[in-house]
Amino acid sequence: MGSLEEYKMKRVGLVGWRGMVGSVLLDRMRIEGDFEGIEPVFFSTSQAGQVAPDVGQGDALLLDAGDLSALASCDLILTCQGGDWTKSTYPGLRAQGWSGHWIDAASALRMANEAVIVLDPLNLEGMKQALSAGGRTWVGGNCTVSLMLMGLGALFQRGWVQWMTSMTYQAASGAGARNMRELVAQMNKIGDDAKSLLDDPATAALTLDSQVSASLKSRTFPAALFGAPLAASVLPWIDTLQPDGSTREEWKGHVEANKILGLQPEVPIDGLCVRVGAMRSHAQAVTVKLNRDIPLADIEALLAESTPWTSVIPNDKAQSLSRLTPAAVSGTLDIPVGRLRKLRMGPEFLGAFTVGDQLLWGAAEPLRRTLRWLLESN
Ligand code: NAP
Repeated sequence: MGSLEEYKMKRVGLVGWRGMVGSVLLDRMRIEGDFEGIEPVFFSTSQAGQVAPDVGQGDALLLDAGDLSALASCDLILTCQGGDWTKSTYPGLRAQGWSGHWIDAASALRMANEAVIVLDPLNLEGMKQALSAGGRTWVGGNCTVSLMLMGLGALFQRGWVQWMTSMTYQAASGAGARNMRELVAQMNKIGDDAKSLLDDPATAALTLDSQVSASLKSRTFPAALFGAPLAASVLPWIDTLQPDGSTREEWKGHVEANKILGLQPEVPIDGLCVRVGAMRSHAQAVTVKLNRDIPLADIEALLAESTPWTSVIPNDKAQSLSRLTPAAVSGTLDIPVGRLRKLRMGPEFLGAFTVGDQLLWGAAEPLRRTLRWLLESN
């Protein structure tokens, strides 16, 4: 029999649980039974004192996410609240000696030395080493990076990659819940304005196009959040400009992927990040420069076995359209990789396309799995 201490339920503080990532996280935790065996405590920055969600712990009220002593009463804190809250809370909590585990969706701490970027199907060994060395800070990766690595990370781990470019097709959800609404409002506006033309089967395509174009340019087109039409268009800019002309989203592709995999020397990863009118699943088209001419069959076999969620889609039209799209994977943990072929540039050049739900493997799933792993490791 173990000591009483071993049987003490861990007190887990949940912050940011009612946001978009947090809601998906809570759903997944309920489905996986993650609330069994923990004492969940819910925090809010704006609703302290209101009723907390019931996940089987009985009646409880929301605590104030600004109350450091309440936070310090937790053994672990899991936050999806956002970078500003992390920056205003984490340093103070650590400074007052809190040594619990901090699990975070925000990017604020990702590149900090004390933080591990968690993606356990790829870097569980690194996570274990960090835990043994006293690591207490665990941060989820950028959604696009995590999804790319879930699809193609095995190529890097095998040492087959000289460099990689990733051209992304990123969903509205990456910009936040309100942006998802704005995308649908844009679609709605286009549909409403074109309704009479669409209802008439005789309408010429160019007439319909003129109407859509007029809608996109109209002053009443709802684009306050994206700053431009996303529906019926694409936006070749995500996040802020970096000194080298990349955007911060593009910069993350290199630094985070290399940190997650612990690559030494670093493997160059770069490309263009583009917002498209998908709702919650990101896709990306990549070009990989292999270190040598590796047979396509070996590549497919490696990727198919790389994680339980990764699958290789045969390079044919029907399967690509039915299984390799944002519409196909949204709401699932599936990470299909397809369009695999050697490119015209030579036998060391591999083309691929991969897609995944950015709220699941791109955000919530690595966090809930890290929580579970930490609880089971203790
Ligand atoms: P979000 O939906 O904006 O939610 C963040 C917080 O906003 C909530 O926890 C809630 O905090 C507050 N809030 C205010 N009004 C709300 C309302 N009407 N409904 C729900 N919440 C409301 O943020 P998020 O998109 O989940 O992102 C959270 C963090 O995860 C960010 O750091 C983000 O960068 C990171 N992340 C996001 C994604 C993504 O796809 N969106 C992916 C990976 C990582 P209170 O209860 O305290 O008021």
